Amino acid sequence: MGKRKSKRKPPAKRKQLENLATMFNCPFCNHERSCEVKLDRERNTGTVKCNVCSETYQCQIHALMEAIDVYNEWIDACEAVNA
Ligand SMILES: [Zn+2]
Repeated sequence: MGKRKSKRKPPAKRKQLENLATMFNCPFCNHERSCEVKLDRERNTGTVKCNVCSETYQCQIHALMEAIDVYNEWIDACEAVNA
């Protein structure tokens, strides 16, 4: 009888969230993943810019906000304008 090695390696942690992506669909020109979000943590400013139609949006961010949040703010702002 061979020794039974307990090979219990925990699976590699995959905590990379998919929504860390910084490219989003543009609500103006409807291009997919044409909008790039930049987070300026020093100035607490988030900027979205569409590389296709050059539409931009800026908003205040805080430490817990990610690119997706800035994008969501933008979408909200667009809807507020259209309402
Ligand atoms: Zn666009």
